[in-house]
Amino acid sequence: MRTLTEPSREVPIVLEADVVVCGGGPGGFPAAIAAARHGAKTVLIERYGFMGGLATAGLVAPILAHTASESDIPIVEGILKEATERMHALGCAPTWEEALGEWGVRFDAEALKVVIDEMCAEAGVHLLLHTHITDVVTDGDRIAAVIVESKSGRQAVAGKVFIDATGDADVAFRAGAPTTQGRAFDGRGESIGSFFHIAGHAPLSEERQQELRQQVEREMEDGRFRFYNPNFMNNNAHHCDHFSSNMTRYGGDSTDVRDMTHAETSIRREIWDLVRYLRATAPEFADAYVQQTSPQVGPRESRQIVGPYALTGEDVHQGAKFEDAIARGSWWIDIHCPLGHTYPVHLCTVECPKGAECPYWAAEHEQMRSRQELYPPQGDWYDIPYRSLLSVATPNLLASGRCISATHEGMAGARVMGTCMAVGQAAGTAAALAVAAGVDPAAVDVRALQETLRADGALV
Ligand SMILES: Cc1cc2nc3c(=O)[nH]c(=O)nc-3n(C[C@H](O)[C@H](O)[C@H](O)COP(=O)(O)OP(=O)(O)OC[C@H]3O[C@@H](n4cnc5c(N)ncnc54)[C@H](O)[C@@H]3O)c2cc1C
Repeated sequence: MRTLTEPSREVPIVLEADVVVCGGGPGGFPAAIAAARHGAKTVLIERYGFMGGLATAGLVAPILAHTASESDIPIVEGILKEATERMHALGCAPTWEEALGEWGVRFDAEALKVVIDEMCAEAGVHLLLHTHITDVVTDGDRIAAVIVESKSGRQAVAGKVFIDATGDADVAFRAGAPTTQGRAFDGRGESIGSFFHIAGHAPLSEERQQELRQQVEREMEDGRFRFYNPNFMNNNAHHCDHFSSNMTRYGGDSTDVRDMTHAETSIRREIWDLVRYLRATAPEFADAYVQQTSPQVGPRESRQIVGPYALTGEDVHQGAKFEDAIARGSWWIDIHCPLGHTYPVHLCTVECPKGAECPYWAAEHEQMRSRQELYPPQGDWYDIPYRSLLSVATPNLLASGRCISATHEGMAGARVMGTCMAVGQAAGTAAALAVAAGVDPAAVDVRALQETLRADGALV
């Protein structure tokens, strides 16, 4: 490949903050709100014109893991509960008590966008939207500033503590801190996917829905569609004048822009293939249309930091408890085949169309488990240890959301949005405590952090 040398240039430091939160998704916005509420001068940098990450840009819903495994016992409250109550006040989410009785918190993405705006404004978070973090400037092993690009040009944002909530550990990676990605044996992460909304259909009875699902499933088996499930008639949002479907998949690397480009165009084509097919074969869908596709396809798993502790699949399954617990998770080891073939991956021995031909099958097979072994004990949860948020190499960096330190199987549980939000609140609170004490995040008094989180309504 030919290369060229960029000329060096002076970059203006447009902001100097205590805490710089990089990315405004479920791992990022609670971190910024928590840090600012605890008195830290906080900046949140987000590449889109709105926050919410995959909860808005990915149309992903509902917010999972708000309750203990297969129960209605709450395990995440704090900022998640506040945001739910605010969305309820807008008529766009159930009450918190109602949500506890459901498998996830249903909500409308547009309501979440404005609720996050309000919560950030009230806390005093300085927002930089439409701003892409492109590089990091280090001073020894510490991050001095992130370099951002926007319509305002190339600029720097300096800070004391940086929280990497980019989903892809962009900041850790650019800082040269060690990161991991995907399965230990081949580095492949869970398949990319996306949500889309279908509207304009006629009312359908339960029986008819079941019939149509089976029809699409047969087409999947015949190879017409490569969806991972036939559930195109889901109601994951709060307002159900449309279907919110989570069925697409693409086996690729979400940190490779060529794969992301192909994922976007091929998934979009498949969504339209499905709608054309439904229009032609199901009278109730004769006038149906794609109301929207998500602004971006969603990575389930990409780069993560290497911390002093990596959450494991065993931790998820055992409902592990840690002395340095800062959040709770309850989602199971929910692996979407990185090659985009099977789901859930523990069925790959029986369902994978490639079977033993797959070069990865043998290695994956060794780790196969029964469905029973993938869940935390019923009514229980696993703790997220504070050590999983710390970097082994960069002392003023904390990770949040799906950038935390975990194995492929551990991340398959910890990646869902309820857990990301709980981790985010903890990361922001820890950053503020570190700044107030004049220490690095690793030196934060974990007992004080836990007490502060509890006082703020988090369940720890
Ligand atoms: C298809 C699919 C279905 C899913 N289903 C569910 C579900 O039903 N329920 C559930 O709870 N979870 C679900 N998940 C998982 C969940 O959506 C994610 O794991 C979660 O959103 C991760 O949160 P995050 O904040 O770490 O990352 P993200 O949500 O990806 O947010 C990262 C944010 O950082 C910003 N950003 C990234 N890089 C930069 C940069 N360089 N500069 C500036 N900004 C940047 C992004 O724009 C984004 O706003 C699903 C995921 C996928 C892909």
